[in-house]
Amino acid sequence: MRLKIVHVGEPALRQPARPLTPAEIAGADIQRLIADMWETMRDAPGVGLAAPQVGLNLQLAVIEDREEYLRDLPPADLAARARAPVPFHVIVNPVLRPAGEAIDHFEGCLSLPGFTARVPRAARAVVDCLDETGAPRHIEAAGWYARILQHEVDHLFGHLYIDRMQSTTFSTLENFRRFGGARPE
Ligand code: ZN
Repeated sequence: MRLKIVHVGEPALRQPARPLTPAEIAGADIQRLIADMWETMRDAPGVGLAAPQVGLNLQLAVIEDREEYLRDLPPADLAARARAPVPFHVIVNPVLRPAGEAIDHFEGCLSLPGFTARVPRAARAVVDCLDETGAPRHIEAAGWYARILQHEVDHLFGHLYIDRMQSTTFSTLENFRRFGGARPE
């Protein structure tokens, strides 16, 4: 079932979410939620969706960067972003350690539809979390995947990319396409 994605201004996006127990993760309610969030993310389409974005105060996010999303993007853009497909997976109760230098790229969010901004993110991210079965999972990510992880973990602690963006680069997507994200340096 497709879920309603809430937009900036909704209090759920600004509250730190609560962790889940392995028993909760294995239960029918959370398994249904994961399936619904996967469907909602694909339908949007997006590469990540966190539970607060569907109004739920839970430390859970789904992530998937599909081959078909990358097919029509210029190879130079993919290379600049170090973007490669990421199989569907779930992160629960993540502990994130950013690593490496900060890298700036434009990013967007399903909770701020129609907008984008340049956001500095660490080049790499190490995440320890539980997976969709409640088992521990250790992730070492680089490039765009590291950015997705940082964006989604932020959601679970009440943060949005607009808190971290270079505010003078904030743009409608329409103007971003027209002007290519040009800005005074
Ligand atoms: Zn987001």
